[in-house]
Amino acid sequence: ICAKETTESATFVYRGTFVHSTQQTALQILKDALLGVDLSIFFQSLPLSSQFSQLKVISFICHKAVFFGLLHSSEFFMPGLVDTHIHASQYSYAGTALDMPLLQWLNAYTFPVESCFKDLEFARKVYTQIVRRTLRNGTTTACYFATIHTEASLLLGQIANDFGQRALVGKVCMDRNDCVKHYKETLQDSQDETCRFIKELLEKKYPLVKPVVTPRFAPSCTGALLEQLGEIAKNNNLHIQSHISETHEEVKLVKELFPESESYTDVYRKHNLLTDKTVMAHGCHLSDEELALFRETGASLSHCPNSNFSLCSGVLNVRNVLKHKVKLGLGTDVAGGYSASMLDAVRRALDASKVLTIQDPKYKTLSFEEVFRIATLGGSQALSLDDQTGNFEVGKDFDALRINVAAEGGPIDLIQDEEPKILLEKFLNLGECHFLFAPENLSLM
Ligand SMILES: [Zn+2]
Repeated sequence: ICAKETTESATFVYRGTFVHSTQQTALQILKDALLGVDLSIFFQSLPLSSQFSQLKVISFICHKAVFFGLLHSSEFFMPGLVDTHIHASQYSYAGTALDMPLLQWLNAYTFPVESCFKDLEFARKVYTQIVRRTLRNGTTTACYFATIHTEASLLLGQIANDFGQRALVGKVCMDRNDCVKHYKETLQDSQDETCRFIKELLEKKYPLVKPVVTPRFAPSCTGALLEQLGEIAKNNNLHIQSHISETHEEVKLVKELFPESESYTDVYRKHNLLTDKTVMAHGCHLSDEELALFRETGASLSHCPNSNFSLCSGVLNVRNVLKHKVKLGLGTDVAGGYSASMLDAVRRALDASKVLTIQDPKYKTLSFEEVFRIATLGGSQALSLDDQTGNFEVGKDFDALRINVAAEGGPIDLIQDEEPKILLEKFLNLGECHFLFAPENLSLM
């Protein structure tokens, strides 16, 4: 169910189990609860004994038709998944090309494919597929990298809007590329086209789609470009996304390219690219001092475990990130990560945590509840969208997945009745999503 599923003329009330995260608790279970939605969530409570009369009161107060949905005991609602880092433009080769480390991988596979997005028909094909696929996988919010091409990046924004997905869309900026020379911009072009992209996307007034300033990563940008992008983001109060400390080789390269900076994080900070609306992917090799800079500036990290394993980049110490109180979301990082599914990202995040425990038995493995929070509320905080989405707090949009763990023909065999906590754990480990809104289960009050 996507945010704008409901209309001004109708109110929806659901009764059943809701699972979500709050600031205080990684997993809050609202069993046999009522939740009311019109333009946003306006009502959330445990049902009184006479819930039907309560619904009639709502109907009376709202002067609107109230649709009532009753969930089965094998069903629950959970917040939509938030993918904080995904390259829409790399989807065509997802599931392949995982045989090289990052810097070689970019030259061999990524840059040649991304350069094809000057062809709008190719872009339309790939972008339609990735938005459809992520929605089918339960991603109601995505933070996308596109390519350096303005028209194709605007098209990605339009497609996300048409499908009703909440999205941050970034036209990639890069004025440094010595290996694939035809895939880069001049400093002036990058600056001008970024401004045009932002202006034209904002003029569309899409309710759920916003631009994000997107320097690819420090090695692809000159200091002058980083400076300009920091200015643009500041002047327009925009989101920022990039990559940081994914591999040791990359960290070494940044040190050579920006000798005046104290650290990789300092490169972005110096250019005003580390703000409370910044999300940086990976961060596998950040020092404690750098994490402290993230905390100070309010910038966040996107944990991309599939990609970190697939390109042998590193293993993020999530416990240490949380200890430094840095905002943290989860990302698929297609196509360095081979799966566009956030459920896969949840499973890989649990695996990554277990790898750290195998290496050091004193390392406290992440629980599934903690990873659930990172994939939902954590992601919305990482993208500074937690006033709109991430959990079922009153006032937020109803970005939600209706899960039936015992769906016929589904991947889970439910042998006996289980508590909601077990149903959620089974779903996270074994489940699959199918984008299907089923209003036939609703009855008019
Ligand atoms: Zn990435």
